[in-house]
Amino acid sequence: MIIVMKSHAEPKDIEAVVQRVEELGYKVHLSRGEARTIIGVIGADEYLIQNSTFEVMDGVERTMRVMQPYKLASRDFSATDTVINVNGVQIGGRKIVVMAGPCSVESREMILETAHAVKAAGATVLRGGAFKPRSSPYSFQGLGEEGLKFLAEAREQTGLPIITEVMSPEDIALVGDYTDIFQVGARNTQNYSLLKALGKQNKPVFLKRGISGTIQELLMSAEYILSGGNMQVMVCERGIRTYETATRNTFDINAIPVLKETCHLPVIADPAHGTGMWQYVGAVSKAAVAAGADGLMLEVHPDPARAWSDGAQSLTFDRFGKLMQELRLVAQAVGREI
Ligand code: PEP
Ligand code: MN
Repeated sequence: MIIVMKSHAEPKDIEAVVQRVEELGYKVHLSRGEARTIIGVIGADEYLIQNSTFEVMDGVERTMRVMQPYKLASRDFSATDTVINVNGVQIGGRKIVVMAGPCSVESREMILETAHAVKAAGATVLRGGAFKPRSSPYSFQGLGEEGLKFLAEAREQTGLPIITEVMSPEDIALVGDYTDIFQVGARNTQNYSLLKALGKQNKPVFLKRGISGTIQELLMSAEYILSGGNMQVMVCERGIRTYETATRNTFDINAIPVLKETCHLPVIADPAHGTGMWQYVGAVSKAAVAAGADGLMLEVHPDPARAWSDGAQSLTFDRFGKLMQELRLVAQAVGREI
């Protein structure tokens, strides 16, 4: 439930409402907008709606039931876009963020070389997997902590914040010692113990849509993290499994405007996993920016033919540089910048 305060509500009125909510045993999420404060009541709606007397309290304009099953993620909770600041990089603002780097960190040299190349082309966040969720147990599983150390060195050299995947709650402390953003992969979107643990972290979380997940399921997963107290969540469309086999996944372009309309979290597009083929990554990246995405995640590799994972969907430095130039024009056309 949401309690909308009057625009002239006084701090003591807000405090009294918060106290009453807490007395009833619910948690509060305060959203202080320019015009008015909105008090989100976290917990079961039904009882409150039927029995609450909030509307007679001073400073209260009205109470509203949030119709969607996701509450904190919904636009009702926050009409303004959430902007996440990662070491000075704003995610969710007018400037489109480009997170680029290899699928997997393969060696110190390759991540350093890639970091410098993507930075020179205009990327503002460095990606790279150290713990890899591979479909086969026989495939390369990532360098683990060594990979995290190489990423941290690349950050030191370039100043780019880093994003890397965390696969289980037990790894959060270790990955959190190095990363600036926790990535939750498509195979873990509904790993609720991982999501709950990330809800207790004080670092942004990049949450991918599940391989066969609906948009609502993605937002419910975001809700797990938000309801734990971590409001720094961004959601990512990375393609879903459909009957189509021409590409690895089917990038759901619809998800971008749907997510932008229904939630206030930054929305990122991942055309690399969304297509699985570098030939299509550029077109889908441009489409995603035109559709309103707040950022892109792209896989870039010094030599995709020799990549240890996802080479087929990785861009060379040269192709990435060219795409960045094209993206600038698209961004400009829709009132954004890169
Ligand atoms: C990745 O980002 O390299 C990755 C494994 O992506 P996804 O979880 O979308 O498959
Ligand atoms: Mn990958």
